[in-house]
Amino acid sequence: VKIDEILKTKLTETILFLAQKGWSPGTGGNFSVVSNQSPLELFMSPSSIDKTQINQSQIITVDSDGKVIKGHGKSSAETAIHLVLCKKYGAKSVLHTHSIWNTSLSRKIKPFESITLSGYEMLKALGESTHDTVVEIPVFPNTQDIDFFAQMLDDEYEKYKSMKAFLMAGHGLYCWGDSIESAKRHTEAVEFLLECYGVENFIIKNF
Ligand SMILES: [Zn+2]
Repeated sequence: VKIDEILKTKLTETILFLAQKGWSPGTGGNFSVVSNQSPLELFMSPSSIDKTQINQSQIITVDSDGKVIKGHGKSSAETAIHLVLCKKYGAKSVLHTHSIWNTSLSRKIKPFESITLSGYEMLKALGESTHDTVVEIPVFPNTQDIDFFAQMLDDEYEKYKSMKAFLMAGHGLYCWGDSIESAKRHTEAVEFLLECYGVENFIIKNF
C-alpha cells in the first residue's frame, strides 16, 4: 500500500511537471505507470481533468482491458495505447503530451515516415551512448478509432520494436520508459529534440 502511494505521488508530480511545461493544455494528454505486472494494472490520469491541478486522490487504477477498477473518474479513450505499449513494448510508464512543437512537427511529416534525430548530445538522455547515433521517431496518422490504432501497434511490433517514442499526426507524442523516472527523462529529451529539429528545419532554415 505504501509503495502504491509513493508511485501515485511520483505520477502526480510528473503530470504536474509536464503540465507546467505547457505540454498538456486544455485537459489534453494522458499519463500512466504500471502498478501491478501480473495481472497488469496501471495507475492513470482520469479523462477530462485539468492536468495543472491534478492531485493524487484523482489517480485511477485500470485493468488490462482498460476498465476502471479503483478510483473515481473515467479512463481516457487512449488507454488501449498505454496498454499495448506496456504489454508488448516493455513500457512501465507511458506519458502522452500535446505540445505545440510535437503537434506542429507531426503535421509536416508524411504518415508512416519518421523524424530522424542524430548528432545531438541530448540523444544520450534516451539511453544512447553517444551523440553520434540515429533515433527515428515515426509519425502515425491520427484516428479516433483507438482500438484499431492499438491493434496496429500490436501487429507491427517487429517493425517498430526499437522505437523510443512516436507521434500521432496533428495530435501529440507518446513516450515511455522502464520506470516513471526514465519515461519523464525520455519525454523531456524528445520534446527538446523535436523543438531543436523544428527550429533548425523550419525556422533558422528560412532566415
Ligand atoms: Zn491525446
